[in-house]
Amino acid sequence: MIQIETKADIQGRVREWKRAGATTALVPTMGALHEGHLALVECAAQEADQVVVSIFVNPTQFGPNEDFDAYPRNVSSDVDMLKAQGLASCVFAPGPSEVYPAWPNRTWVDVEGMDRTLCGASRQGHFRGVVTVVARLLAMVQPDVAVFGMKDAQQFFILRRMTEDMGFATRLVGVPTVREQDGLALSSRNRYLSEEDRYRARALYAAVQSARACILGGERRVDAIERVMRQELEGTRMDYASIVDTSLLMPVNELTSGMEVLAAVAVHFGSARLIDNALVTVP
Ligand code: AMP
Repeated sequence: MIQIETKADIQGRVREWKRAGATTALVPTMGALHEGHLALVECAAQEADQVVVSIFVNPTQFGPNEDFDAYPRNVSSDVDMLKAQGLASCVFAPGPSEVYPAWPNRTWVDVEGMDRTLCGASRQGHFRGVVTVVARLLAMVQPDVAVFGMKDAQQFFILRRMTEDMGFATRLVGVPTVREQDGLALSSRNRYLSEEDRYRARALYAAVQSARACILGGERRVDAIERVMRQELEGTRMDYASIVDTSLLMPVNELTSGMEVLAAVAVHFGSARLIDNALVTVP
């Protein structure tokens, strides 16, 4: 597995692969890798001949009061995990000036409206940072496929819209959320949880699963479904528990047959903010 740190080197390497007739998949991450990330790498290896895992803790997607400085960074243990898995051909860990050659950054990619609901409502500027960094990574690596986790479903739908609108030749693939045995979605932020909060955090999965059961059971009233989610989250510091459509991520009032919706929740536990969701097609 090779390690690359510059834009020129990654471009050269992918160009060589292309010349040899090989396809490339990119898995963008912020490091602190866990089994969830490894599932994306596994999917990437099925989708393309060569897999690039990028590791970049992107400053522009953190708000002023968020955990940018405290975000766990350990590239050498990430590299060890990827080597042990044996599926990635390359780790691309660019320094900040490769991604943001001029600082402060002036050029942004924004997907209007879709970044206002769910996590976008309380994390202003977060998705603008995510979309901008992913657009730059796609421009640098020019992969045939880019793989993302559906744990961050809002991110996935926003990025899908961006790549379609911008005409990127990259196909996006979403991988189902990898979970602990009790349902908690794996996250680099789970390590911040106290023992008690770790136990209480099971409520997120319970909430989105109840929403799914309600919808599949025939419930059409969104307020009733959201109430069920809030009940599961009672006693926690909830940020949101909402049902939105997957095309514009806007709130919906009434479900109709065939509609694809996202039942999504976010909860604060101490300094950690955890999210989860269920993607449901209304029967
Ligand atoms: P991050 O490093 O947290 O920015 O995440 C990098 C990628 O891994 C994103 O596409 C996430 O959606 C994905 N990811 C994070 N946690 C999980 C998980 N538990 N299951 C599947 N994908 C995940």
